[in-house]
Amino acid sequence: MSLPTASHVRQQFLDFFASKGHHIVPSAPIVVKDDPTLLFINSGMAPFKDYFLGNKPAPYKRIADTQKCLRVSGKHNDLEEVGYDTYHHTMFEMLGNWSFGDYFKTDAIAWAWELLTDVFKLEKDRLYVTYFEGDQADGTGPDTETQNLWRQYTTDDRILPGNKKDNFWEMGDTGPCGPCTEIHIDLRSDEERAATPGRELVNADHPQVVEIWNNVFMEFQRLADKSLIKLPEQSVDTGMGFERLMMAVSGVKSNYDTDVFQPLIQFIANEAGIRYHGTAPAKVTDQPATENEKTDIAIRVIADHIRTISFAISDGQLPSNVKAGYVIRRILRRAVRYAFSSLGFKQPFLYKLVPVLAEQMRDIFPELKQQTQFVQRVVEEEEIAFLKTLENGLRRLDALEEAARANGNRIDGKTAFELSDTFGFPLDLTALIAREKGLTVDEEGFKKELEQQKSRSRNAQETEQSDWTVVTESDEQPAFVGYDLDEAPAKILRYRK
Ligand code: ATP
Ligand code: MG
Ligand code: MG
Ligand code: MG
Repeated sequence: MSLPTASHVRQQFLDFFASKGHHIVPSAPIVVKDDPTLLFINSGMAPFKDYFLGNKPAPYKRIADTQKCLRVSGKHNDLEEVGYDTYHHTMFEMLGNWSFGDYFKTDAIAWAWELLTDVFKLEKDRLYVTYFEGDQADGTGPDTETQNLWRQYTTDDRILPGNKKDNFWEMGDTGPCGPCTEIHIDLRSDEERAATPGRELVNADHPQVVEIWNNVFMEFQRLADKSLIKLPEQSVDTGMGFERLMMAVSGVKSNYDTDVFQPLIQFIANEAGIRYHGTAPAKVTDQPATENEKTDIAIRVIADHIRTISFAISDGQLPSNVKAGYVIRRILRRAVRYAFSSLGFKQPFLYKLVPVLAEQMRDIFPELKQQTQFVQRVVEEEEIAFLKTLENGLRRLDALEEAARANGNRIDGKTAFELSDTFGFPLDLTALIAREKGLTVDEEGFKKELEQQKSRSRNAQETEQSDWTVVTESDEQPAFVGYDLDEAPAKILRYRK
């Protein structure tokens, strides 16, 4: 089966909204340099924040684009899911259309439906839509306007009420806000759909019943006393996950099985001399059950992370030890770790993926193609440095072997933590090597040490809790402390919740 190409599908989206009078603009850089409240762009509307806040007039009443987004810190942090699930990425494209005081619910809903069902030919009975159920505290009733608009296109059993978390968007503690309607798609087989109706799986973290598009209707302003007033002008802000759309139009069950990811996946698998099987744990909280699952996760993590790394660097954020640079360095190391421990790459390898990605993105994000060599050099140098750290950690482990033997063939938690903290040596790698030496690791003890470090660093954490709140961070500490934990295996992290 030949897959629809990413370029074609993206262009269809942009052409559709151009035909509805939208001005098409390029993606803003993913790296944010002039906003103390945000490290990276995390949604399509972020670059347009000033228009919604009334700080600047919007240059056009209608805009559409694809925006590079990163969700690796603050309010939106999907890192833990990446690789384990098949539809959250660290870096993704958010397709969006905007109305700045122009069209509102009627057109936004009509066009969303027309695009998905007429242009992309998605089956209507696989689509579910949600509307805001209302909130007593705010004095808002259910968004029956949206509910009734959807009734023109689909049946009541596919129009579902949703809560404040999923169906009401706010920029921050104060500012523009409003209800949203989200579109979900059920990509399961006919048998599965007959057994359990899709409506029961909407917003339930099912890997084949996923949210694809969020349409936000900004009609209120949240005041400092928490009350809502109607905005004089109403606006629309939408965001559709491009990689999820690609999954839907390709008729596949994973974002990674689309043209967006396949060139990277095939390249990684070839270099590793293995096959990508496309398996995933049933739940993101499950540990890989088989060797295939384990290597598949590693391949997905690497295919995902190289996009974040490459676009961050080409948009001006080099890996470093502070703030945004630290986020990128950690992600890069995370990718190296998976390459090293799950796929057996002992030499720098990630940098070879940069040209593959650049070639794929050349039409839409030429900035990467233009800087391929530079990005490759940065990535390779980082890899060389971290692989050395890994080697030092390995030597340290060798030196520790005797003590572990004396300790009932067990590496104690404190030592395992020191390896992770000082040598950047993740616990699962320690455990893997320990196993080869016939040793075990005190994972509980490790967890305790991790917990202690977490509480030590809690004060220094950035407090990015809404889309725009002021980040407080200590200058002595890297800003991005929360993610330290992700160097440890997901299993341990998940105990923490
Ligand atoms: P989810 O509930 O799946 O985490 P979300 O509600 O956090 O998604 P929104 O903030 O509404 O997402 O963003 C708009 C769209 O962007 C989503 O409908 C989805 O298609 C896409 N999207 C969000 N997060 C990711 C991600 N980490 N990777 C890929 N696409 C994403
Ligand atoms: Mg989310
Ligand atoms: Mg959601
Ligand atoms: Mg959403």
